[in-house]
Amino acid sequence: MTEKIQAIVIKSTDRKEKDKNILLFSIEKGKCWATLKGVKGSGAKMKIAQNPFCFGEFLLENGKFGQIVTSFSSIETFHELSEDVEKYFEATSLLEIVNVVEFSSMPEQKAVFVLLLQALKTLCFKKVSQNYVLNKFLLELFKIYGFPIEYEKCSCCNARAIERIFFDYRNGELVCVNCKNFHSEELSKITFSALKILSDCTFDKLSTVRLAEGSELGLLRVLVRNFEARFEKNLKLIGVLS
Ligand SMILES: [Zn+2]
Repeated sequence: MTEKIQAIVIKSTDRKEKDKNILLFSIEKGKCWATLKGVKGSGAKMKIAQNPFCFGEFLLENGKFGQIVTSFSSIETFHELSEDVEKYFEATSLLEIVNVVEFSSMPEQKAVFVLLLQALKTLCFKKVSQNYVLNKFLLELFKIYGFPIEYEKCSCCNARAIERIFFDYRNGELVCVNCKNFHSEELSKITFSALKILSDCTFDKLSTVRLAEGSELGLLRVLVRNFEARFEKNLKLIGVLS
């Protein structure tokens, strides 16, 4: 049986002397492994399909040891992401997050796919400050999985216009000083401001945003910790938070 899917390459690993295994992410199948045969040779036709970020149309066939890519045509390679070290680490972090999450439904799978594509396009083709896309990606991911971060009021007592804001890692929500607990951490003014600005901003408008210096890293630490608490998984974001 031959199957045609539009997928993004999440990662690749060596297999035998000349083959590569690639982890593909598509709307139809979620994440699945497939083998690229003989792609390590210099003139290999599908060589490009082993590169992370690569987005294209893959024809898959069932082989003896799993699925084999029999044909590939590129839609967008995002190769510019590999040429800029800062963008590369940020884009690799997006793929690592997708690598870690699981899907419980088709709408969830589709929403994450659309989000990843949007984030990669913004990172690749727009002039956006470092780590803004990664922060925005995490904020949107939390919404897809049903735990959006509401910043208008204390999630516990509903108080508005609160002076000191705390992030409660037990449930991924914001609380006031009266409702804070052992599992909450105070957010600095600039971190909270970055959270509000990026929550309200679309990917299209990210290039017009300027956050207070350093606040994007402060926010990223909070969002990554929240991710690990919500998904019960560790994240290794190489070159970004290390
Ligand atoms: Zn409260």
